[in-house]
Order: sequence, then structure tokens, then C-alpha cells
Amino acid sequence: MPAEFRNEPFTDFTNEENAQAMREALEKVKAQLGRDYPLVIGGERISTEGKLESINPANRNQVVGRFSKATKELATRAVDTAFETFKTWRNRPAQERVDLLFRVAGIMRERKHELSAWMIHEVAKTWAEADGDTAEAIDFCEFYAREMLRYAGDHPLVQVSGEQNDLDYVPLGVGAVIPPWNFPLAIMAGMTVAAVVTGNTVVMKPSSDAPTIAFKFFEILEEAGMPAGVVNFMTGSGAEVGDVVVDHPRTRFIAFTGSKEIGLRVNERAAKVNEGQIWIKRVVAEMGGKDAIIVADDADLDEAATGVVQSAFGFQGQKCSACSRAIIDAKVYDSMLEKIVERTAKIKLDDPTAPGTNMSAVINEKAFKSINGYIEKGKSDGGRVIIGGGSDGEQGFFIEPTVIADVKPGSTIEQEEIFGPVLAVIKANDYDDALNIANDTQFGLTGAVYSGDEAKLERARKEFHVGNLYLNRKCTGALVGVHPFGGFNMSGTDSKAGGRDYLLLFLQAKVSAEKVGATTSRRADAGTAI
Ligand code: NAD
Repeated sequence: MPAEFRNEPFTDFTNEENAQAMREALEKVKAQLGRDYPLVIGGERISTEGKLESINPANRNQVVGRFSKATKELATRAVDTAFETFKTWRNRPAQERVDLLFRVAGIMRERKHELSAWMIHEVAKTWAEADGDTAEAIDFCEFYAREMLRYAGDHPLVQVSGEQNDLDYVPLGVGAVIPPWNFPLAIMAGMTVAAVVTGNTVVMKPSSDAPTIAFKFFEILEEAGMPAGVVNFMTGSGAEVGDVVVDHPRTRFIAFTGSKEIGLRVNERAAKVNEGQIWIKRVVAEMGGKDAIIVADDADLDEAATGVVQSAFGFQGQKCSACSRAIIDAKVYDSMLEKIVERTAKIKLDDPTAPGTNMSAVINEKAFKSINGYIEKGKSDGGRVIIGGGSDGEQGFFIEPTVIADVKPGSTIEQEEIFGPVLAVIKANDYDDALNIANDTQFGLTGAVYSGDEAKLERARKEFHVGNLYLNRKCTGALVGVHPFGGFNMSGTDSKAGGRDYLLLFLQAKVSAEKVGATTSRRADAGTAI
């Protein structure tokens, strides 16, 4: 039995030895920027004419990696290859798949800073944010490996005389794994290993903004001994080849994390039965958020301001869990604004490779324009920019941490996911009003309440309709196993990644009932499956 699961500790970069290790990793990665990477289908490396480039958001002239774009034919071949590989992979003992994940976790632990350094270059994460992403990826491997052992074990049924009844969890088939760029290692790896450890095979299509870190992870899977064709690595346009993989009649499930728009598209396409298809496709879709922190009149305002600022601006506000709305009781509104501004002013916006940087560039030009558009819209709708608002797209896609006060409930920036460093501050008449404003959204991912009154916190437990509620703490930073993660309403299917129910989404239960003599037990003779 493996040791009890423990979260991977975060690295303390104030320790000079750790800082030096990270500097070395950054140098090592810098020397490898701009290389070409292939598609990998059934273990075969394939280059195509069409290329896409992954760019450093903080240094837009720096190419991090150059990738082959899959054609529709190759996307089809990737699903067919995964389908063939499934015939053998599904029958491997669970212990073998579990051991693969433990080896993957071990390699990632050894190369922790190198993996983080790739993310620092590819998506402009700061040292601490990249380190958290890598730690979470390791956690997913360690956690799901243990979970698989649990699912492969016995699941007692009520027994009747004359029968031996068993329930076994069996895999689904071929999955399309479609991750976002914002946790380009953790979410990508988490969805992939959950599918693989349960006995499925996959076509993994990383985001075009973060394919290099996905390829580095794919290489680790190979190094750890994953058979060819279990994970097929496919880069290319989401719209072109994404649709092909989702539509393919041999695709059995889709594990998607990304925006509401694409999640709904995937869900709709997956619902259509195509020629030759003999199942209903399963869709696991984790989507956007419009997360709020409520600050009640009896809150510890210093704690609350720190929580709001950390949740709003960590990784440039590009977390699905980011606080994009601070809903503050009118009685403490002005003093909270002051404290929020004070803390925001201390954020250092800079190159992510520098150790002291707290915030860096947003992911790409499209996001840069869209976020700036939301800042303008916030102003024209009557909001007051009390700090930030500036941006500089010359060298990279830098946008200042921006706080917009006096935002009206129901207005655009109070309702739509901005996915950038913009905090809307809303004044609530009282706690009732604050809860109403918080819930008046199509999303329901994370939320937090700061209050010194246990009755108010209890009301939030019952009435604040989010998948992940935090009380007197920030609304970001979910830990695997500790805070299983997933949202309500348009935030997705509430899959609770990193929780005990997650692997069930990649499995189906098969029950077998055998007529036997009263005392014979097939299982007792045969031993367990693993
Ligand atoms: P996105 O929806 O633009 O892209 C997600 C993935 O879908 C990418 O790999 C993309 O290439 C792919 N894709 C695009 N078109 C496709 C198509 N037609 N068919 C199949 N795949 C297609 O999202 P993003 O910008 O990468 O990520 C940001 C979004 O993700 C935000 O909305 C954020 O809230 C959300 N997110 C949610 C969670 C969660 O757990 N709920 C976690 C992280 C991010």
C-alpha cells in the first residue's frame, strides 16, 4: 500500500538554494526555446506543413515552441489509434497503470523547477504561481493513483443465497482531453492521468497557447513507460481538429476545461449521434466563473483586503477561481476600498523570470484587447477606476492590476467573465443584498465570505450557490484532495477534480451475477483484480 496522500509542498524561494535551482532551470529552458515539436500518434512522431507558434506573453518576440498543426485526417487517425490501443490497455492490471502514475509523479518531482520554468516562459506565470501549478500536477498523479487502487478494490453488494454478485468499475473507451492554457500543466495532466489510470486511452489536444509544457509532460509519460497509443499528442486549431475529435463516432467521452462558449459547443456536438456510434458520449465540462468575495460589515477588513487582492490578481486574474467581484457592505465600503488600493499598489508587474515579480503579462493579444475593452466598458457604465487601468502591449501583454469601484449590479463587467486583472467593486446595502448580488450570475464556481459572525457564515453555506465556498479566506488556491474542485450552473458539470468522485467520471460499473452453490465464491478462489 502506498503511503497516505500528502500534498506536494510549495517551494520556499527565499531559501537561496531553491532560488539558485530555479535560476538554473530558467537558464536551461531559455537555451531550449524555439524548437520544433511533432504530433505523436501511436508513438509515431509526425510533422506537418502547417505550424503554430507558442509565444512568450511577456516577450512577444520570443517563440517558446513551434508545433505541427494536425489535419482532419490526422485527428481522425489519432482517435482510431486510441481505439485500437484501448483493446489492450483496458486489460492491463490496475496496479500497472497506478505504478505508471507514481513514476510520472516521481519524474515531475525531480524536474519540478524545469517544468515551472517552461510555464514561466510559455504563459508568464510568476515563480510562485508556476511552482503551485507543478505541485498540483504531481498531486493529481499521486491522488488519482491511490484512488484507482480504491476503485479496483472490492465494492460490497448485498449477497443473496445461490449467487455470487460482483461490481467492477471498467473504463469507457477513447477520450478527448481538451485543457485550457491557464493551468497548462496541472489541469492538462490531471484530466489525462485520470483518464489513463482508469484504463481509457486518449487524444490529448493542448491549448495552442501552452503546447510546450504539454509536450514536456507527454515526454515524461513516455519516459515513465506508457505504451505507445495510450496518450496521443495532437496540436492544432481547436475549431478545426477539436470538432473532429469530439464528433468522431469512436470517441466515448470528452474531458474539457475551458470557456463557457467552447464547453457548450463541445456539449452540443457530443450530444449528436454520428454514423457508427453506439453510445451516448459523456461530457465532463469545467467552464468559466464570475467569482465573488463578500465582505460583511463585521469582517476583519485587513484579512479581507488581502484575500480580495490575492484572489483578484494572482496569475493576472486568469484563474477560473479568481475574485472578479468584491461585494462590500456599505458600512465598510470606503475603508475597504482604501485597503484594497493600498495592497494593489504594492504589486510588482514585471518580467515573470525575475524572482520578485508578483504579476506579469496576460496570455495573448486577443486577451489583451478584450480585457482592455472590459476596462473601458466598466468606465463607460459608470465605474470609477481607483487604481490601474493602464496597459502596455509593446514588449508583452502587460495590463496593470485594475480596481473599478462603484460597479452596478447587472452591468457588463459585473456579469461577464473578464479573465484578467480587473476587479469590480460593488456596494451592497447589507448582507442580504450582498448574497443576492453574489448569486445573480449564470456562473457558480467559487465564492468567499469574510465575516466575524458565525450565523452569516452559516447562511452562506446554505445560500451562496457555488461549487467551492471559502469562509474567511481567499477564493483561489484549491488543493487536490483538500478542496475537490468544480462549479455549478454555467461553470460546468461540477466534476470535483481532485476529489474522491472524480475517477467515476471515467468509469462505468459492471455488475456480474453468477449462479453458484451456497458456499462457493468465485472471487475468494480467484483473488482480486489487482
Ligand atoms: P477556451 O475555451 O478558449 O479553450 C479551451 C480548450 O478548448 C483549448 O484547448 C482550445 O484549443 C480548445 N478548443 C477551442 N475550440 C474548440 C472546439 N471547437 N472543439 C474542441 N476544443 C476546442 O478556454 P481557455 O482560454 O483555454 O481557458 C480559459 C477558460 O477556462 C476560462 O473561461 C476559465 O474560467 C476556464 N477554466 C475553468 C476551470 C474550471 O475548473 N472550471 C479551470 C481553468 C480554466
